[in-house]
Amino acid sequence: MRINLISDTVTKPTPGMLEAMFTAEVGDDVFKEDPSINALEEKVAKMFHKEVALFFPSGTMANQAAIKLHTQPADQLICDKYAHVYNYEGGGISFNSGVSCKLVDGNRGMMTALQVAEAINPPDFYHSPLTTLVSIENTTNKGGGACWDFDELKKIQAVCKTHHLGYHLDGARLWNAMVAKNETPQQYGELFDTISVCFSKGLGCPVGSVLVGNKDIMHKAIRIRKLLGGGMRQAGYLAAAATYALDHHVDRLAEDHKRAKEIGELLTQLPFIQKVEPIETNIIIFEIDESLLSAERFLEKLKANNVHIIGMGQGKLRIVTHLDYTEVMHEAFLSILKKI
Ligand SMILES: *Cc1c(COP(=O)(O)O)cnc(C)c1O
Repeated sequence: MRINLISDTVTKPTPGMLEAMFTAEVGDDVFKEDPSINALEEKVAKMFHKEVALFFPSGTMANQAAIKLHTQPADQLICDKYAHVYNYEGGGISFNSGVSCKLVDGNRGMMTALQVAEAINPPDFYHSPLTTLVSIENTTNKGGGACWDFDELKKIQAVCKTHHLGYHLDGARLWNAMVAKNETPQQYGELFDTISVCFSKGLGCPVGSVLVGNKDIMHKAIRIRKLLGGGMRQAGYLAAAATYALDHHVDRLAEDHKRAKEIGELLTQLPFIQKVEPIETNIIIFEIDESLLSAERFLEKLKANNVHIIGMGQGKLRIVTHLDYTEVMHEAFLSILKKI
């Protein structure tokens, strides 16, 4: 039995999801004639109480399109130093939008409203890039699946309003945050100008993201998607998977969170584990005491048991629980860990 915990993107469609895909009605979405995509976009827009939703092939493209919508070349956006948009989107912010980042030294990927306010360049000081956007990530990926305090997000919204800045949420992992903190899409829709969400992470779809916002900002989104190469044809097969996931795979995220906590509790008891970061959702980041066991050797031992996790450098390791990580695998993994 292969136990793959390197990411929640490793999942394969369930039989129910495949059935939904097989039976999807499709059309050419570049002409907006794909009923499955139109239905998904309408559903997601309604969930977040936004006027427009647009289907994208990836979370990266949805974020990059959002940044383009909010900015002009030479502008600057504010984000945490851990932000996915800055670290893991191939430098797309500068390449696609000609925009630079003011990085904030936050806590596990999360900034305070005060830090955001301090990072804004005065708009009449023409020597500095013009600050036009604040980008937030919830849950934070590099921050170990940490969830934001909703009140801090509200305070940052107030800062954005005062300074006329766009407010974007990279919500690739927002479903996990909402389940963990018992929050609703509507609450987030009220705070942010644009929100990207992924279906290919915790929700278990093969592909797909959606960007939501109101017409005033989203009217150019379809043009930007086209120029980024994201206009797809009969992609309703993918949208059908996303709709299925919204109906069947959101509440069950709590199981992934519970298993992640149980793994974390066991890790803290192992003598060669130095530190386990707080676990709020489905990501576990921990450190090995390399004077007792090297991270490399630990990974090898797991691999010998057909368990796969990922190293993040500097002795840090990561485990991510997901839809294809079953209870049987969970019990097997816990007993393997105990024997190391
Ligand atoms: C995975 C992820 C993305 C990008 O998603 P892709 O679909 O892999 O391009 C963006 N932001 C965060 C926080 C993510 O975890």
